[in-house]
Amino acid sequence: MFDLPSDGWRTRFAPAPTGYLHLGHVVNAVWVWGLARRFGGTVVLRVEDHDLVRSRGEYAAALREDLDWLGLVADEEAPRQSERGERYSAVLRELGELVYPCTCSRKTIRAAVERLGRPEGDEVWYPGTCRERGIDPATTHARRLRLEREEIRFTDRRLGEQAQTPAEQCGDLLVRDRDGHWSYQFAVVVDDMDQGIDVVIRGEDLLASTGRQIQLAALLGRHEPPRFLHHPLVLRPDGEKLSKSNRDTGIRELRAAGWSAERVLAEAVRLGELPEEVASAAFGKLPER
Ligand SMILES: [Zn+2]
Repeated sequence: MFDLPSDGWRTRFAPAPTGYLHLGHVVNAVWVWGLARRFGGTVVLRVEDHDLVRSRGEYAAALREDLDWLGLVADEEAPRQSERGERYSAVLRELGELVYPCTCSRKTIRAAVERLGRPEGDEVWYPGTCRERGIDPATTHARRLRLEREEIRFTDRRLGEQAQTPAEQCGDLLVRDRDGHWSYQFAVVVDDMDQGIDVVIRGEDLLASTGRQIQLAALLGRHEPPRFLHHPLVLRPDGEKLSKSNRDTGIRELRAAGWSAERVLAEAVRLGELPEEVASAAFGKLPER
């Protein structure tokens, strides 16, 4: 099932501490711990606080408490992203000429894309405006990575064969923004490489990011990318993603309303469509609804 290595592999649970844990996180957690327990993997907890503006220490502490309550204990903990600035800077230097300063705002990018007459896609595509502008690196923190046109193929362990062309999806990748914050894509790829993560288990909302992460990893010298499994995403009845402000799905709210940890896990297993065989091997008998 899922074509995972038989033993000795590493995966991660990597929440951003920008809010309290909710059912959407637990869906990811039951997939991560479920597959790791069933198929002999190690779970690394990584607090992804690369967004220094929205991350808060109290959320990081709360998510550990909530995971403990759920009985989801990580085998290891990785350094927080906010502690890894020097490492990210070193990797940026290694990329050398592939990286260039960019002074575009979202607005100027949209205007440039409009002038090119490119149909609007699902995400912002960067047209390479600053590639040859020779901007003085001292004038901005923002850096982009040249992504040559390349079709990236990979096998998602649940969804099957995938093909993505990052140069067409998003264009040159933002590595660091104008305020000096490292981008999610960059930090995650460096972390996964440094921490020996060889199985990435996450929601389908990140499927479109996978090709660019594989392409970036190859530029950093990682030619054997992790295996990827993208699981169903929990949506609200109106089709919106669950977010931290949705009080009805917060783990603390459910706990206060009398839910047991087992009931929360059971609900996450059901919503996330984790196979019964994996759930029972990993979590034992869970309550029926
Ligand atoms: Zn630019």
